[in-house]
Amino acid sequence: MLRMASLFVFMTMFLSACSEQAGPVVTDSESVEIPVDENIIFITNARVIDGNGNVIERGSVLMEGGLISAVGENVVAPLNARVIDAAGKTVMPGFIEGHRHIIQGNPEEWMANRAAENMQEFLNAGFTTVLSAIDAPQILELRRMISDGEMTGPRILSGAFVPINVLPPGEPTTDPARTDVSRPPNRPTEAAGKIPDQVIIDTVQAAADAGYDFTKTVVTVTPGGPEVDSLTLMVNETHKHGLKAIVHAVGKWDVLEVIKAGPDHLVHTPHIGQLTLAEAKTIADTGIPMVSSLGTLGIFFDENNDPVFRDGQPYSWNTLSSAGQGPVNARLLWNAGITYGFGTDTSFHPTETLKHELNALSLTFSEQDIIEIMTEHTARAVFLEDEIGTLEAGKAADLVILDGNPLENIYDLLNVELVVKGGKVVVNKM
Ligand SMILES: [Zn+2]
Repeated sequence: MLRMASLFVFMTMFLSACSEQAGPVVTDSESVEIPVDENIIFITNARVIDGNGNVIERGSVLMEGGLISAVGENVVAPLNARVIDAAGKTVMPGFIEGHRHIIQGNPEEWMANRAAENMQEFLNAGFTTVLSAIDAPQILELRRMISDGEMTGPRILSGAFVPINVLPPGEPTTDPARTDVSRPPNRPTEAAGKIPDQVIIDTVQAAADAGYDFTKTVVTVTPGGPEVDSLTLMVNETHKHGLKAIVHAVGKWDVLEVIKAGPDHLVHTPHIGQLTLAEAKTIADTGIPMVSSLGTLGIFFDENNDPVFRDGQPYSWNTLSSAGQGPVNARLLWNAGITYGFGTDTSFHPTETLKHELNALSLTFSEQDIIEIMTEHTARAVFLEDEIGTLEAGKAADLVILDGNPLENIYDLLNVELVVKGGKVVVNKM
């Protein structure tokens, strides 16, 4: 129940005349309305899941000026706070989508006709931060509009694509996942072509000049190919500009090579080839975070209950093993101590995508694990652990109120009732 009622403070002042003074006794009684300051939000009576592994069964979160100022059992709100009674509900950090392709179709048309609605869909689903793992250049304008307050939406992180090799021509395809060159028997048997170092240096420079948050590349390692050297160059150049470098590698053989270049983030869970325990430990020990995207190669179902691929077309059966290999490798990596973030790599509706990814994660992770993944771990994976991902004083006031308890039923994450982003209520169904 949302309580927006004004707070009245009845101030009664008794001004008594001193007995030594002449004159009447004055009694003045008046009521003073303290206006609610919308920059101060107090959520109370809630189950608080703070994202650091703590659960307060009946707690409060106080937010002031866009930041969290207090979390606990005995937080006292200022009299001018907007008070939200969340009895029976759960408060947790705003969701972070660690891998998404946002802009669909013609970018200009999408920006004009679809952007505002789509950004609200992310917020409605509880996502207060979204990492765009490559989109049309208009993503920078979208990011600016949201951060300048011209559009309501999640905070956006945007990346620029930097190719690091030229693969031998293979089968033409509209979706590389269908005939993934990382998947045997499609893996190249000869060295890929080298992209000149200066081209990589210039491409990273251009990404930095344009204001991107990170660079991204896609790697299938080829026999005797230039991949590790070129990726090392890309990572080093990216770091010179103060940006992060992320890399897509989906064959386990590729992941084991790309970690030698020291990227900042692994875009997917390896879903081709099963990791050994030793290989999982080698990857986890680098400290490089990885994002899940386990659901993207699973089976979606259309209205006729026909199995479809993530693009809505008939399911691509040669990729089915990935739907199971990803969750298996994810668990081995988790056991080995990896930082494991949540990401979906789809273009479906955010709520549907969340449900689909929860299905896949639930194969090998508990509710508690998934909450850990979706909070502090994903914040680290998207390089924002100092700002978001947990409910603690000093962090951004990004949170969701859920009906139910996701520690008992993970699908309660779908029951988003209220969302605060940067200290502003952006979704309210309470
Ligand atoms: Zn992707």
